[in-house]
Amino acid sequence: MSLTPLFDLHTHTIASGHAYSTLLENITAAKEHGLIAIGTSDHSPGMPFGTNEIFFENYRVFPEEINGIRLLKGIEVNIIDFDGGVDGGQVMPEMDYVIASIHSHCIKSGTIEENTRAVIGAMKNPWVKIIGHLDDGRYPLNYDKIVAAALEYKVALEINDSSLRPSSARLNGPQRVAVLAEKAVQSKVPVVMGSDAHMWCHVGRLDAAQKVLQNVNYPESLVLNYSLNGLEWLLRKQKY
Ligand SMILES: [Zn+2]
Ligand SMILES: [Zn+2]
Repeated sequence: MSLTPLFDLHTHTIASGHAYSTLLENITAAKEHGLIAIGTSDHSPGMPFGTNEIFFENYRVFPEEINGIRLLKGIEVNIIDFDGGVDGGQVMPEMDYVIASIHSHCIKSGTIEENTRAVIGAMKNPWVKIIGHLDDGRYPLNYDKIVAAALEYKVALEINDSSLRPSSARLNGPQRVAVLAEKAVQSKVPVVMGSDAHMWCHVGRLDAAQKVLQNVNYPESLVLNYSLNGLEWLLRKQKY
């Protein structure tokens, strides 16, 4: 795929407590990658040693653009129970978009049915637009049900570039991402590539994710990073 991604909505700053770059460093990296927009999506307060609600409330000081790059207000919330509860609190409606993900610091794996129910429950949340890194082998999921629910509840499934790197803590990431992409393309589910950068040097790096999608001939119209329409779909305030 020779197409160029326009944006990266999954990035972390030092505010997350286990990431290593500032917002400005991330924006500079996004510009170097030729992106037109970056979303900053630090972890919600349930992640140990990270942010608090005031951090997200004060996004109101953000300008719309910095150094010619559109700056979008995001949050990555934790899925905290098998009903799909998330810990985004009162700030989710104020965000441009919300990513919901399973993190090992915030929920223990259940059965495949429980994990799947947790993810689908989070999809039903009206503010959740993206489900992050569904590819951790420590948390088995029924991808057929996940893909069907993504269509029903109008969320994008993330193809997470960092899960594809050797440094990833997730189990069998590359294999899981490949299976997910195969299932998702069959059902024509919109996907969004995210770097999940915890350091500026990974912002906008989506080449491994692109390769996975290329391998299954993912239609470019369903890869949201390739168009402004894709971005607007993700930023729509009302899902339904
Ligand atoms: Zn993190
Ligand atoms: Zn995450």
